[in-house]
Amino acid sequence: MIFCIYYFYKNPDILRQYATKTQNNAKDSSLIKRNSSEIINEQSKKIQNPPHLKDISNTIENIDSKNWESQKNLYLLDEALSSEATTNAQEQFLRGELLDNTLKDIQEKNIVKNLVDAESQNLLLLGLENKYQNIQPKIWQENPQGSINTIQTNKKILYLTLDACGGAYDKELIDFLVESHIHATLFINAHWIESHKEEFLELANNPFFSIQNHGTKHKPLSVNGKSIYGIQGTDSVAEVFHEIYDNEKLIFNLTGKKPTFFRSGTAYYDDIALAIAQDMGYKIGGFDIIGDGGGTFSYNKILQQAKKVRSGSILIYHFNKPKGDTRKALQTLIPQWLEQGYEFGLL
Ligand SMILES: [Zn+2]
Repeated sequence: MIFCIYYFYKNPDILRQYATKTQNNAKDSSLIKRNSSEIINEQSKKIQNPPHLKDISNTIENIDSKNWESQKNLYLLDEALSSEATTNAQEQFLRGELLDNTLKDIQEKNIVKNLVDAESQNLLLLGLENKYQNIQPKIWQENPQGSINTIQTNKKILYLTLDACGGAYDKELIDFLVESHIHATLFINAHWIESHKEEFLELANNPFFSIQNHGTKHKPLSVNGKSIYGIQGTDSVAEVFHEIYDNEKLIFNLTGKKPTFFRSGTAYYDDIALAIAQDMGYKIGGFDIIGDGGGTFSYNKILQQAKKVRSGSILIYHFNKPKGDTRKALQTLIPQWLEQGYEFGLL
């Protein structure tokens, strides 16, 4: 059933059958008051030049059975087209308004919740377990191949990333960034979100910040339980999945947005765990400048580290350690970078 959208898109005849079926099924619908050939002609024209179907066709072009975002979109559309409760959605689809209006409508009605929670989650996990069963990882390191550690650019631009792994909230640091109009990407762990819901929503609503996924239990990402710095990593495909997905769901339910970057606790990955994150639609948020060593570096050491920046650098700091020197050092560094002509980009 989920592929009906594909057939509609590729084959107006199927659309004709669908329109007829819809008319037969929905006798009281306003749709039936319209001439069916009128609807079909109109829709066929749109299919040949489909501004409203752009998102659907992009989804279909990029469809990958293991890709979380594709799956989620298809399930949403499928629900829109198959549920009796959403006859309006069927009509809107035929009128070419589905993505513009109905998806929002469906999300508001919380239909998305059931889909995300049950069927598609299980299917995706099963798919991942099948794909990676019997494959042993070969790599275990920080920022491994496949991780995005710098951004290619001709502009003088830096990418500040600040993590909240758990712990406290350096509100003064965040206020300083906002007052200085500095963009920053915030990698936030589920523990921090749970203990700072109000602050999290404020950050998510602030256009200076991009909210990204820093894991559910803040574990290094491994399919076989590798450790680093004495921290035990995830130990199966399912645990990798939940380390990523559970925090994604938390963020999605609070903000309506799915993060696009993932950074594991410690930024360590094995190659299979990294591939799973990519299959789930994520880019891996690496870095080329270790800014504050998990919030432990001294003021002078943080200044020293920052000497290595160049255009396109991704820097990692922390905003969950208000007692450390990160804030004081960034209050020195950021004005210097601005004076040197750097701008600040979002991941
Ligand atoms: Zn962290």
